[in-house]
Amino acid sequence: MQKVVPSYYNSFSCIKEKCKHNCCIGWEIDIDRETAQKYRNVSEEIGERLKANIAWDFSPHFILGEKERCPFLNEKNLCDIIISLGEKSLCEICREHPRFHNELPGRIESGLGLCCEAAAELIIGQKEGAVLEISGKKECEDEIIDLRDKIFEVLQKRELSFEKREQEVLSLLKIKKPELTSDFLFDFLFSLERLSEEWTEKLWLLKSRKKENVNAFSEYMKDRLFEYENLAVYFIYRHFANAPDFEEAAARALFAIYGCEIIFLMGSAVYSETGAFTFEQQLELVRLFSSEIEYSDENLYAFFDMLKEREISGEF
Ligand code: SF4
Repeated sequence: MQKVVPSYYNSFSCIKEKCKHNCCIGWEIDIDRETAQKYRNVSEEIGERLKANIAWDFSPHFILGEKERCPFLNEKNLCDIIISLGEKSLCEICREHPRFHNELPGRIESGLGLCCEAAAELIIGQKEGAVLEISGKKECEDEIIDLRDKIFEVLQKRELSFEKREQEVLSLLKIKKPELTSDFLFDFLFSLERLSEEWTEKLWLLKSRKKENVNAFSEYMKDRLFEYENLAVYFIYRHFANAPDFEEAAARALFAIYGCEIIFLMGSAVYSETGAFTFEQQLELVRLFSSEIEYSDENLYAFFDMLKEREISGEF
């Protein structure tokens, strides 16, 4: 079995109380059965808290407290379960987040999710571009992995403009990009479930942006274009090869293209309003996009489906 990770994967560590958007706030965390069983048998004081703060139904989960905080997140934003029982006692989701694992024929691909601000910094900040580290013997050929490797190669051809790289990706997939205006994207994203006010505010950037400022923004970002490249590579790495069929894989490639375009347009609107757009602002945009779209199955699949309906196919 091959194991694949991006080169930054093992550099991740949670920034704990320094995190501005703690993942223990606002998410209802399901507890795997094995851990739930262990939690039932804990006898120390924390055992009583576990019994009282977990919904012990078909799918056990922590009962969120005030302001949607996990009941074990203390006032210093540290986890009382780790403090009392150690890191190994965490349930699978808490232990693994923000890591993801895609099981593909003969290989497991792991990565970090963009919705975590510490992970986003690693993913977007790779100045030399993302590199995959592969260990173990290749067990089988996989057409979709070969195709994806070619897409990575194209996305990382820095001697080409983004438009040219995009065209090459589309021609590898033998599809045409549907023309979606920023007004259309605004209406579409606005129609999806929105989890935070911050995201709604960011969506209005798609309306307020001025077309004539896009070139000025491209010039301003010319030494930071690797941020968009890294974003596109991340989306493709996470979503492309595990698509159930080629039609969906093509829609997911378009998702990577439009995901980058949305983030770019929002960035250009911030730039035209303030004359600047920092790396921190970029991280906040991608983190929000990921939390609101990538980490909501409903929204993510609505996005894929919208692109599938509009995708102009060749003879894939
Ligand atoms: S979002 Fe990331 S950095 Fe913040 S608490 Fe969660 S794992 Fe840690």
